[in-house]
Parts: sequence; structure tokens; C-alpha cells
Amino acid sequence: MTKRNPATIVASARPDADPAYASIAPPIWTSDTFQWADADTKPEYDYARTVNPNRDLLLDTLCELESAAGGAITNSGQSAALLALLLLPIGARVVAPHDCYGGTFRLINGLADQGKLSATFIDLRDDDAFSAAMGASPQLLWIETPSNPLLRITDITKRASGARAAGALSLADNTLPTPCRQRPLDLGCDLVMHSTTKALNGHSDLFGGALLAADPTLVEKIIWWANAAGLSGSAHDASQILRGLRTLNIRVDRQEDSARRIASWLDNHAQVRETNFPGLASHPQHDVAAAQQSGPGFMISFSIHGGAKATTAFLAQLKLITLASSLGGFSTLICKPATMTHRGMPPEAQAEAGIGSDLLRLSVGLEASDDLISDLQRGFEALI
Ligand SMILES: *Cc1c(COP(=O)(O)O)cnc(C)c1O
Repeated sequence: MTKRNPATIVASARPDADPAYASIAPPIWTSDTFQWADADTKPEYDYARTVNPNRDLLLDTLCELESAAGGAITNSGQSAALLALLLLPIGARVVAPHDCYGGTFRLINGLADQGKLSATFIDLRDDDAFSAAMGASPQLLWIETPSNPLLRITDITKRASGARAAGALSLADNTLPTPCRQRPLDLGCDLVMHSTTKALNGHSDLFGGALLAADPTLVEKIIWWANAAGLSGSAHDASQILRGLRTLNIRVDRQEDSARRIASWLDNHAQVRETNFPGLASHPQHDVAAAQQSGPGFMISFSIHGGAKATTAFLAQLKLITLASSLGGFSTLICKPATMTHRGMPPEAQAEAGIGSDLLRLSVGLEASDDLISDLQRGFEALI
């Protein structure tokens, strides 16, 4: 089947999903349970922890965007991550990037501390470290590209095939790029997860997640565990996420345009020590990003001259850009990963990953880019 354009996928109505009235905007089916015609014939919808029409509508759309066969809509990104780890046998070895999302690091490490799995965190760009990790018979390779907050790029095709050769499943956390920019399953990954809290919902007003797979056997296991562990998202949240998703493509286009402008402005700024953005020709893996992503996305990180003290003074001057965790929403947010999103990572692990106290992460929103640049300039002026 030929793939539809993401813009078309997210905007397509599904009147067939409402058998009563063929609505364009689907109703919200809040019922926790559904009537059986007789005790021996399970209806399509029986109990809403297991199945719900709003989750199914969202799931269908996400599956088409990600070339997945199925999966589960969960109540947060973290519950999607937990669901992926529940697929593994006890004691399984998980290989993850040392600069992954702080919550992913906390979850994998917490389970490792309890002896439920064993964890190896490596720099996924390093061929030797990768070969050594694959030599230890892992069951799962965790990929996050572009990485958060350093926006390093992992070659998905290369690493997913390396994992397969070692007998491991590979998973990509595709929250940052969104399926409008990157499709990990098409590049050889077995699993793709999302925090739909971020760009997919895009309105900073709920939590959600998804775990999807292309292989029907894996899909079955995902559905089984989501139900068994009770990780499913609510009907209301699924409906809201689908509503937000309608504008995903145009939001990403617009946010990315602004991010390109802001990143090259930062890169040329005398007070900026380093700018991380896959769209800059100076990014060390600019070519890999250009090959596997259809655009660099809307996330930038940068460090400013003067260390932690200058960073604090800079942040205090911002008026339009808000100091807050999270990303992918309508409004531009800035954060200091060392003390905010990545505080679950001990200082040694932060140093190992390259997350310094002068590093700032910017999630570019929908405001006019001129206004965002003026706000950043106000921050820099405070340092002179
Ligand atoms: C936010 C985020 C998560 C966790 O998602 P929640 O919805 O906050 O539970 C996982 N991975 C990445 C890359 C994220 O940005």
C-alpha cells in the first residue's frame, strides 16, 4: 500500500468510527464497560481498560503515521516505556544511550537496582562500545535520536541491524522528531514509543504515551501487557490527543522553520559556546540526520559562555520564553537539563553524557521567531 502524506493522515476524518451518527469529530466513549448480547460471545468492546473506541481511533492514526501494525495507547510516555520493558524476561540486559531522556534513565536504572534487569548505558555513536555491548547478548537496544538534550544522532538503520544480528529487539523513542520527521520502524526498529504528552498532543494539557510495533506477534504481547498491567490511557485523553494531532504537521513545519532561524542565530552569537541542532551543517552527524529525518525538528540545545552563573542570569531576563520542563507544545519553553529534566541522572552520569550546568534546552513553539530571538537577545544583554 502506498503511504499517505502525514498531513493527510492527521487531517482525515473517520465517520465510519461512529456507527450511530457518522460524526466528523468523534464522540467520547467514557463508559467503563459495554453490554454483551450473550454470555458466550465477547463483543468487540467489552471492558474499557482493555479496549476503547477513542484509543482505537488514536492508535489507528499513530499506526499509519509510524507504519506500525498495532500497539497500545498508554497513560504517559513513561508507562509506554515501562510497557516495553515488561515485554522482556526477568534479568534481561538492556542497552541504552547514556544521554537518554532522564526519566528513561531513572526507570531502567531503578529496575536494574532491584535486579529485574541489567542495564548498560553507552554512547550509541561509538562503534567499539556498541560492539562490546552487543557481545554481551542483550535483549533490548534502546535508541533515542535526536537525543535529549544534546541532539546527538544515532544511525537507526545501522544500530537496529546490529541489534538484530545480536538477537536483541530495538526500540526507538520517537518523541522528539515525531513521525512527521522520522519513522523508525521503516528504518528497521522493532518497536517505537512516544510520549504523546509532547508534540503529538501539542497543547501542554495532558499526559499520554504509545508503544507500537510492526510485527503482529509483538503487537499481541504489547496489547496483552497493557491490559494486564492496566497502563491504558483514558478515553478523554485519547480524544484530546487525536484533536491535537490534527495540526501536528503544520505545527512541526512552523516550529521547525523558527528553530532553523534561531539555531543559526545562536550559532553565530559571540556569547554562545556551542549550539546543538541537527539542521546546522556544523552538527557532527548532520549527514546522518539528513538521511534518516525529513527535517531537523524544533529542539535546540546550547551552552553559553560564563558557566552556571551566566546561565542563571540569562534565564532570569527571559520574558516571553518560559522556564519549564516539557517540549513540543505551542509555547516556547527553555530548561536547564542538569537540574530539571535530567535531575534523575547522578552528576557522574551527567558528566559522562556531556550534560553540563551551562547547557540549556529550547523547545521552539509557535510564536513569531523575531519575538523569540529578541527575548533571547535580552537574556544575553544581561551578561555584558
Ligand atoms: C517526556 C518524554 C518522555 C516521558 O513522557 P511522559 O509523558 O512525561 O511520561 C519519554 N521520552 C522523551 C524523549 C520525552 O521527552
